[in-house]
Amino acid sequence: MDRYQKFASSGLGRQLVRRLGLPNPHPLRRDAALATPVLVGGASRLSFLKQLETGSAPHGALVFDASDISSVSDLRQLHDFFHPVITQLGPCGRVIVIGRSPDSVAQRALEGFVRSVGKELRRGGTANLVYVADGAEDGVESTLRFLLSGRSAYVSGQVITVSAASPTGTLEGKVALVTGASRGIGEAIATALGRDGAHVICLDVPAAGEDLSKVANAVGGSALQLDITGDPARLTSYLLERHGGVDVVVHNAGITRDKTLARMDSSLWDSVLEVNLACQERINTALLEGDVLRAGGRIVGVSSIAGIAGNVGQTNYATSKAGVIGMVNSLAPVLAARGATINAVAPGFIETKMTAAVPLMTREVGRRMNSLSQGGLPVDVAETVAWFASPGSGGVNGNVVRVCGQMLLGA
Ligand code: NAD
Repeated sequence: MDRYQKFASSGLGRQLVRRLGLPNPHPLRRDAALATPVLVGGASRLSFLKQLETGSAPHGALVFDASDISSVSDLRQLHDFFHPVITQLGPCGRVIVIGRSPDSVAQRALEGFVRSVGKELRRGGTANLVYVADGAEDGVESTLRFLLSGRSAYVSGQVITVSAASPTGTLEGKVALVTGASRGIGEAIATALGRDGAHVICLDVPAAGEDLSKVANAVGGSALQLDITGDPARLTSYLLERHGGVDVVVHNAGITRDKTLARMDSSLWDSVLEVNLACQERINTALLEGDVLRAGGRIVGVSSIAGIAGNVGQTNYATSKAGVIGMVNSLAPVLAARGATINAVAPGFIETKMTAAVPLMTREVGRRMNSLSQGGLPVDVAETVAWFASPGSGGVNGNVVRVCGQMLLGA
């Protein structure tokens, strides 16, 4: 809980929040348990939904399968299902709408509904839409488990596509590489993937060696001191010689060198574009051309809300982070053809050393300007990466999911 949250939950704070209409952040549940009981409505296309625990109000989750909605008048079904029960959703409740494809009037309309519900929910609730393509019905379980659990605490207002069926399984016996793993979000990603059974290779620059070893020991993985801007052959040789390849690659390492464009010299531009984008492209090429990424592999990029909305003083950073989205779009079909996937997370305001250094007022605005009225934690980004990385997410390809509590920027 941040200081404002503590104040808002005190006696005086509660009164002021109510009277002045101040943000009212609710503590988020972040555990793996599914939000139950679940009230399910609409079409009965997904067998997974039939396994969920049902019961009377308050509901943990409201799930509506809108797959059969094909006309504007059909959209009324959304109102008919949600209107009587939306106030019966418990704390940290989940609203999930299932669609089929965004390529029709009525199906695309689902996005506006879900995004608005996300903004109306109180007490830590989230709302998300999952388009499940025909034939991908058996690939949806990992995504619905993620969205129904506390692991998606800071993911709201998102549209996810599941485009193929997928086997299930765990990361046991798999090898995962996480760049920039010595601290912050990278450390949290390494921890989540280690928990899920992967052997995690924690990579960071030699200057971060001490912290890196601590993280690698804590997750039972290995430490690799390497600057990613160097020759990618050093990395691929290491992966092949030590592990015979790699199953999961998370391009988390990133830097900021902020200045308005007028004050930004070319070295600030070059360094950010190099670390955040160019070397990641080179590594991907080396991984694919050398067959280092094994069958069923996963590549996960780390974009940013700045790459979607833009930001003052971050022309270099936002360019690089928008490029990460381009990397996902252009490589998704290439990886699908190899039975692999590429996706990205786009974090919003995450409580890290990076954001702690932001001036107080700017920080406070960034932290509250979202539907959950609070900053996210590194673990929120990490859990989203772990969902992309899981073997059950083989049908989740080409997605960019914002971990931003439905931030107003770029909405
Ligand atoms: P951080 O600065 O705490 O960690 C980044 C790590 O990357 C560091 O350990 C650093 O040593 C490593 N690194 C940098 N250059 C490297 C290189 N050339 N080779 C190897 N390692 C290198 O940052 P963070 O806040 O944990 O952010 C992690 C990622 O999330 C970054 O890509 C960042 O752009 C992105 N992101 C963060 C936020 C946020 O709110 N913190 C928001 C949006 C996106």
